[in-house]
Amino acid sequence: MSETTAPTDATTRNVIIIGSGPSGYTAAVYAARAALEPLVFEGSVTAGGALMNTTEVENFPGFRDGIMGPALMDEMRAQAERFGAELVSDDVLEVDLTGDVKVVKTATDTYTARSVILATGSGYRKLGLPREEELSGRGVSWCATCDGFFFREQAIAVVGGGDSAIEEATFLTRFGSRVYLIHRRDELRASKIMQERAFADPKLEMVWNSEVAAINGDERVESITLRDTVTGDERELAVTGLFIAIGHDPRSELLTGQVDLDDDGYVLVNHPSTATNLPGVFAAGDLVDHHYRQAITAAGTGCAAALDAERYIAALD
Ligand code: FAD
Repeated sequence: MSETTAPTDATTRNVIIIGSGPSGYTAAVYAARAALEPLVFEGSVTAGGALMNTTEVENFPGFRDGIMGPALMDEMRAQAERFGAELVSDDVLEVDLTGDVKVVKTATDTYTARSVILATGSGYRKLGLPREEELSGRGVSWCATCDGFFFREQAIAVVGGGDSAIEEATFLTRFGSRVYLIHRRDELRASKIMQERAFADPKLEMVWNSEVAAINGDERVESITLRDTVTGDERELAVTGLFIAIGHDPRSELLTGQVDLDDDGYVLVNHPSTATNLPGVFAAGDLVDHHYRQAITAAGTGCAAALDAERYIAALD
């Protein structure tokens, strides 16, 4: 594309938002209330983002009794629409963000805008087991901070061997009666200090040379089948929680060669702003943040991105 020379015309938007999780919808609410008439690409399959795959959300402020993930996202969506955000259930397949006029393409159409907010989130890596998706929010989780509280006095398994797996496992010992850390090898990848913390924790039991072969339970997780990676022997472990901590991947394929990314593919922003290296291009939520990874922090940076875009546009006028 040679869109660096694309003209600004009546169809050029003030702001296009790519993504429909807490960060995208919050950016949409703020941009719409600032009269920027944002156009939001929600994605064709997963509109609403990561919380569409969970049940109860108990830590989003404002809902003292908790709220179901999809209901929370419906509320955010409706709030954005109420102020005039235009929502499109389509995937953005190509962008050129390098010029003054940003170009965004779906399979069928091309759109232009003066600024773009990137909010495509990230995906948790999955084990690839048959019951994994079905039991998500019913014992299978990717977030101890979000879901640990549901497993008070219960047996929990954590899969992984890096720092974040240990962090999740040690955090979960506050709640669980027992926490098993399942690892494929007989040593951890995690830093020495994290390992020492794990080994010193009386509630944490290391399960070496093991991988999860199956997740069992009708309505909820009741046990997992473990396979010994050396002998191939299988055994069942009774747990009600299975936390998968094997990493996550930012959805930044679209952006390669455009905005600056870190080594893991997360968008680099000029903290504390949401500005990327490209003028008029802002990024928010889990696409940027591999540290906090919460709905409220994603919403917070989505708000910041809309305010940054608003100021950028005001300076152009
Ligand atoms: P996401 O929510 O990932 O949304 C991004 C969305 O953008 C995508 O899903 C898709 O719809 C859209 N998109 C992506 N690419 C494109 C494209 N090319 N074109 C158009 N659209 C696109 N956090 C909490 O605070 N509390 C919880 O209880 C909690 N529970 C969780 C349970 C589960 C099972 C999971 C997976 C996560 C949970 N989290 C929870 C974490 C929270 O969901 C995320 O931190 C948050 O959703 C990140 O928001 P986001 O807007 O950055 O991205």
